[in-house]
Amino acid sequence: MKLKVLGCAGGIGGEQRYTTCFQVDRDILLDAGTGITSLDIDELARIDHVFITHSHLDHVAGLALLVDAVRGKRRGAVTVHASEQVISALKATLFNWVLWPDFSVIPSAEDPVMRWAPFTPGDTIEVGGREITSFPVKHTPGAVAYWVHERKGGFLFSGDMCSTPDLWTALQRTDKLSKVIVDCSFPNAEAELAAKSGHFCPQSLIDDIAGMPAAIEFLIYHLKPGQEHMIMSELREGSATRPFRALKCGDEFVF
Ligand SMILES: [Zn+2]
Ligand SMILES: [Zn+2]
Repeated sequence: MKLKVLGCAGGIGGEQRYTTCFQVDRDILLDAGTGITSLDIDELARIDHVFITHSHLDHVAGLALLVDAVRGKRRGAVTVHASEQVISALKATLFNWVLWPDFSVIPSAEDPVMRWAPFTPGDTIEVGGREITSFPVKHTPGAVAYWVHERKGGFLFSGDMCSTPDLWTALQRTDKLSKVIVDCSFPNAEAELAAKSGHFCPQSLIDDIAGMPAAIEFLIYHLKPGQEHMIMSELREGSATRPFRALKCGDEFVF
């Protein structure tokens, strides 16, 4: 299983240009922020499944553009997986014919270009040998993290989140987890804003993951533009034992 980082920034204009979008092999996306724009039309048409962590615009803007771009260029619908709450939010606020057309009935309800696949957080969905398990996280209603794995191993993508002790407890039962991609949006000086907006700052992240094995690598994403260096140096100063690394657009990993 291959993972490619198409977008991992917490906003635009910083060192990393594109917002959240990860590609698993050729056919799966995790979130569909502006990172999706690095794919050409043939690559876009091969995306069969999109797993959305939550309804924020920096994670779904590219979903609206994807289904428009691939209409008539692929057979069958793109399946969009998310919790019931997230799908309700996207139907009401984005695919509502005001902000964007409802592509679940285009070109027809019988043969649409996109199809909703709601799940209950905790469910595992199998896509061609790859298993994607969702875990509820604290951020917005219905927000989830994804544990993506196959026989040999896998990774966790936290989506945007703040303190969720149950997530780390659940992960300690998995033996194939080697990498965690986790939100750390703000520096410690903005701890209050981080908590209020449902994100981690270095200290709250270090505290939350204190019980996780040292062998698991934590890859930091969603850094706010212009504050990348401060956040990373606060993480390294705050924890001598964990080699935190900032994720970059274009990074690739094989599991
Ligand atoms: Zn968010
Ligand atoms: Zn975000």
